[in-house]
Amino acid sequence: MSRRLILMITDHEGTRCINIHSIFRQLGLYLLMFVFVLIIFGVVSIRAFKDEITSISLLNEIIMKQYEKIQEKNAYLNAQIEQRSEEIMLVGDRVGDLESVIGVDGTTQPVDDLRERIDIASLTGSQKAFVMKFIPNGYPLDYYKRISADFGYRVHPLFFTKHLHTGIDFATDIGTPIYATADGVVEFAQMGHNGGFGNLIKLDHSFGFRTYYAHLNKIVVKRGGFVKKGQIIAYSGNSGVSTGPHLHYEVRFLGSVLNPRNFIEWTMSNFSSIFENERSVLWQSLLMTINNLMEQVPQEELQL
Ligand SMILES: [Zn+2]
Repeated sequence: MSRRLILMITDHEGTRCINIHSIFRQLGLYLLMFVFVLIIFGVVSIRAFKDEITSISLLNEIIMKQYEKIQEKNAYLNAQIEQRSEEIMLVGDRVGDLESVIGVDGTTQPVDDLRERIDIASLTGSQKAFVMKFIPNGYPLDYYKRISADFGYRVHPLFFTKHLHTGIDFATDIGTPIYATADGVVEFAQMGHNGGFGNLIKLDHSFGFRTYYAHLNKIVVKRGGFVKKGQIIAYSGNSGVSTGPHLHYEVRFLGSVLNPRNFIEWTMSNFSSIFENERSVLWQSLLMTINNLMEQVPQEELQL
């Protein structure tokens, strides 16, 4: 026999019995139902959350794909910008080339007269030293591995288009000191793309000459600063449109590009070589100007 609690209430109407046990049983049943409902609610909400998470990650995936597409488009546009800048640079080269073609007709004749009018052999040491100080000559760097590209027409290594390579490329380690090849003033010294040249220095020299030093790593001079021949102006790098660490060196005269090889190989011991090799400069006129300049200044005052 199980124990049962029975409440008996007696009043003037008689006696009633309340079975406490069955009340507890009912309460237990309600509790069970409540727990059951709670579990069902829990399961349903977890499912709803799961669905939400799935749809959010789907959305995330879609956004990621869109982002990737935008990135790709961005890379493509950047490449196009680079190509356009390169094309602008090439147009610049062609203009320079045209200028030199135009210049040739007017300059070859006076060069032929040179030997008649000025005897180069009779130039004094200090006159030669003056020329070698103010007109670009020698190498812009002490050390390089090899000349990776010469001046002249070539197929561009990155764009496969035929164009004039406007300078000479010295393949060298990043950080090689770069020297000014003549006294001058810094006309341009800027970090950046610079139409493919990368970090670039342009030096303005006397008598219409200009030198370019491109793809630099570090620039140590500022625009407007005066530099001496042999002074360190920068350290070589691999900036701009470049296939490897190198220095791109240019010599220009009145905006036209000249073959830098004639200038880098020009030294005191082969002084007259430049007059034979580079015929687009009126050397005759230039030497006479320098001659006149030096006659006006007493030799001992010229600290060359
Ligand atoms: Zn180059």
